Amino acid sequence: MQLENSSANGKKPPSDKNFHSLKQFKSAGRGFWRDVSDADWNDWKWQLKHRITNVEQLQKFLPTLTPEEFAGAKLANTKLALAITPYFFNLIDPADENCPIRLQVIPKLAESHTAPWEMSDPVGEDSHSPVPGLVHRYPDRVLFLVTDRCAAYCRYCTRSRLVSNATGYDFHPEFDKQIAYIAAHPEIRDVLLSGGDPLLLSDDKLENLLSRLRAIPHVEFLRIGSRIPTFLPQRITPELCAMLKKFHPLFMSVHSNHPRELTTEVRDALGRLADAGIPLGNQSVLLKHVNDDATVMKALVQKLLMCRVKPYYLYQCDLISGSAHLRASVRQGIEIMQQLRGHTTGYAVPQYVIDAPGGGGKVPVNPEYVLSHNADRVVLRNYEGKIFEYPEAADGTPLSKPPKEIEEPELCKC
Ligand code: SF4
Repeated sequence: MQLENSSANGKKPPSDKNFHSLKQFKSAGRGFWRDVSDADWNDWKWQLKHRITNVEQLQKFLPTLTPEEFAGAKLANTKLALAITPYFFNLIDPADENCPIRLQVIPKLAESHTAPWEMSDPVGEDSHSPVPGLVHRYPDRVLFLVTDRCAAYCRYCTRSRLVSNATGYDFHPEFDKQIAYIAAHPEIRDVLLSGGDPLLLSDDKLENLLSRLRAIPHVEFLRIGSRIPTFLPQRITPELCAMLKKFHPLFMSVHSNHPRELTTEVRDALGRLADAGIPLGNQSVLLKHVNDDATVMKALVQKLLMCRVKPYYLYQCDLISGSAHLRASVRQGIEIMQQLRGHTTGYAVPQYVIDAPGGGGKVPVNPEYVLSHNADRVVLRNYEGKIFEYPEAADGTPLSKPPKEIEEPELCKC
């Protein structure tokens, strides 16, 4: 029952400016590497070997490097290494120092400023780690850290304490111990491989690990978390996909934050994974000047569906040391969710979550749609701001008589 016909929360729908262009699939192109052979360019090992990893290379390939970026790149290898694949580097707009791709992978001096509430392990993984490289926080599932290396490094990485080993964390996963723990805990039915990036392992090594996990009778479900499809789509070879499909049910969570990351190369790589029967979900992090805008986010989630990927989580950026310059506010996150829900396909709407600081796990954060809930009705607001009521008794049973009229508040006569 509709009670009131009001305007849509006073909010305007997202602007359509740039929306069409953001949704176009384009190739990353060759950029500085135009003379490289196709065989080399499409070889993921060539891409890794030719990553940009120091300030001198950055200056050569990006003459518009700002003093803030120069200083950040100089310091990067003491905090979180600098590494960018040539493929991903080509997505950077050299003319725009606020390019959303650039902000994600090029260090800034601001990373060296740590606010009092920021932490090196913001979601308390180390305190939930029964053996090195395994995080057991939720009852029926574990996070299995496979490596500390990634194809490129995200400047807001929650695990920057360990990935790239820039801070001397000296991460050495011991697969035997991690697997033995899982085998000894029959309540664990779901194993998420992450890192660092598990797809940096060779096919043989990854197959061996997946086989050992599949051999544990109570492990029902395997997942891989990877940013390789967006940083290094060349890694998603037919051979890798053929190997992965032997381990179903196996899901994959990919990671993209801006629609420009979804190139034709990425769309093809995701298509190969989907053709191998791997259900794909995407995790994004809400980042200032990258995707803290409803138009950008709407283009991202719609493009993901076109790539056969379900937008899964939108994370509030964790309180990782030195990330304040990249964090958008929770208020903005809620507003963006409000401008997605109802305004686009339900499958395209991710769950916005805050990973509770210190180790409380993921907490869903939603705009308020239930306005009140009393003895004989639930009062709801829809995506347009219209108000509706759903009659039911407090114990959930249908009402035997209509709910009482809601009394109009008395108007002030003064
Ligand atoms: S790919 Fe993942 S683990 Fe690696 S730096 Fe980025 S966020 Fe961190």
